[in-house]
Amino acid sequence: MDDGLVNQIKARLENTLEQIARAAQSAGRDPASVRLVVVTKTHPVESIQAAIAAGAQYLGENYAEEAVAKMDAIGASPAQWHMIGHVQSRKAGLVASHFDLMHSLDSQKLASRLDRFSAEVGRRLPVLLEVNVSGEDSKFGYPAWDESQWPALAEEARQVAVLPNLRVCGLMTMPPFADEAEESRPFFVRARRLQEYLSGRVREAGWGELSMGTSVDFTAAVEEGATLVRVGTAIMGQRQARG
Ligand SMILES: *Cc1c(COP(=O)(O)O)cnc(C)c1O
Repeated sequence: MDDGLVNQIKARLENTLEQIARAAQSAGRDPASVRLVVVTKTHPVESIQAAIAAGAQYLGENYAEEAVAKMDAIGASPAQWHMIGHVQSRKAGLVASHFDLMHSLDSQKLASRLDRFSAEVGRRLPVLLEVNVSGEDSKFGYPAWDESQWPALAEEARQVAVLPNLRVCGLMTMPPFADEAEESRPFFVRARRLQEYLSGRVREAGWGELSMGTSVDFTAAVEEGATLVRVGTAIMGQRQARG
């Protein structure tokens, strides 16, 4: 283990946790209500082992096959693995069998596949519905940027919620690329309002989790109600291009 790398990641991790705590306190929230997901996509196994040694409890990965290869290489560890990227439905089996939380459920087709594979491995998979609250074309997620779309979303959410092998726990969102936190705030506010809307209407599911905020904007996300923030670059450093 590279102690220099562990110490570097540990310092950034602790700095991030301090910023989360400050943002939570400024919003009158308990800092313990926010979990930090360290996003390790494209980083090598050695860096992830260093992150675990530095105290990372939740690891976020975007590509199912890449993540499963890393899990196999790392073996048993105290860290949980979260899927945060778009998953093609033919990769649903890998997610159902290997991840502790699926943040990025974005279609009924993927939901029914995840349900089926979860049944095969004998578990109930915790999932978040990914919602697109910005309207930006390139983003995945259920369309939810206009309130007129919310009743249809509630109906789709109900259909996911009644699948016996999934457990809907809340929402995830990824706003458009931002240079600073304030640009993302209106989208975080909208996601929070959508969470309240769904919790009032879709009683078959739990809506307590709200996954939002990355390296540039996690403090605004925490101020607006995030319970999971997904921070990569600010802790792990720059990513290599995916080869
Ligand atoms: C890569 C990624 C992150 C982390 O982004 P950083 O800017 O490196 O913090 C968070 N969420 C998702 C969905 C991502 O793909």
